[in-house]
Amino acid sequence: MKLKEYEAKEILSNAGIRIPRGIHVKKGNEFVVAPDIKKAVVKAQVEVAGRGKAGGILMADNSQVQETAEKLFQASIKGVFVEEILIEEQLDIQHEYYLSITIDRSKKAPVILFTSEGGVDIEEVAQKNPDAIRKATVYPLLTKVPGYTIRYLLNGAPKEIGPVIQKLYSVFMNRDALLAEINPLVMTPDGLYAADAKLILDDNALARLGISENRDLSERERQADAYGFSFVELSGNIGVIGNGAGLTMATVDLINNMGGKPANFLDVGGGADRVRVAHAVRLLGSMPDVSVIIVNLLGGITRCDEVASGIIEAGVSQKIIVRLAGTNEKEGKAILLSKGYLMLETMEEAVKAAVEAAS
Ligand code: GDP
Ligand code: MG
Repeated sequence: MKLKEYEAKEILSNAGIRIPRGIHVKKGNEFVVAPDIKKAVVKAQVEVAGRGKAGGILMADNSQVQETAEKLFQASIKGVFVEEILIEEQLDIQHEYYLSITIDRSKKAPVILFTSEGGVDIEEVAQKNPDAIRKATVYPLLTKVPGYTIRYLLNGAPKEIGPVIQKLYSVFMNRDALLAEINPLVMTPDGLYAADAKLILDDNALARLGISENRDLSERERQADAYGFSFVELSGNIGVIGNGAGLTMATVDLINNMGGKPANFLDVGGGADRVRVAHAVRLLGSMPDVSVIIVNLLGGITRCDEVASGIIEAGVSQKIIVRLAGTNEKEGKAILLSKGYLMLETMEEAVKAAVEAAS
């Protein structure tokens, strides 16, 4: 789950990283900016890459903050409407650094990235001047970043940045983050500040972090979550139901290979009964782009006759193509054939039929 800038900054601040003085304002609420904040930055709280360049960050003198905020609330940044803003004291920026921590999956360890060429476009630095970006993994059982790693990362940059790396690392570990980023980390005459912050939490850790709801989920993904399905929405028109991540992924891949467009990934899990299958079929049936649904299930502890009854019970309007194999296969097939469903023997045949029906 992605946190908003002001939420991420509050966490950084609690960990001892300095952030600019500021207030968070929701659309429609009145606010007062402290009179000693002579110059302010008004920042849209939208999760859009390149927000500054897209007009989501405006500078204003104290007397203009109200109208600047109003202007931002009327705007949409790359198609995202602004519902919340952050108003901060402008920093006197002498230099911008980039600092982030994420997971290097191939090394199975956190990796820290640092460059003295921070600011807006880290991707551009990576392309034009890759040597300017220093990268170091940290052995995951260490609770602190070793001094030699910090010296390597800084490469001559001010050593006051060392403790910031250490604190960001503790946030990254304690919050089960997938990404913790400060861009830019800025040097001012008054020392270092996190001028921007990004924090993405691992969805699997939300319960442990005391977060009861993943607000990044769509309404349909929320429903699927409640049923215990592994469900991901994609952009195509062929609905996919499988059991087991492997079989479901293979079905999605095969649809792509045969020139079709999967609308989703849905793994109903092992032992799915009539009710679960009906929920799954209805969930896909409610997706406006779905014109055909392929059900590809392997009966083990899942019984094909239960699956067949669930498909019929769902009663959706879309065409359903079924491939069933395994436990109670005969019974399942008999139930579906009696109702005129298209049953195919192999996964290839079923996917081919689904792709043809959808095109
Ligand atoms: P992003 O575009 O979403 O990454 O937004 P940032 O918060 O990183 O801001 C983009 C850029 O705006 C920064 O790299 C700075 O150059 C500039 N900026 C942001 N806050 C301040 C500030 O307090 N003072 C000054 N002078 N520039 C700022
Ligand atoms: Mg930024």
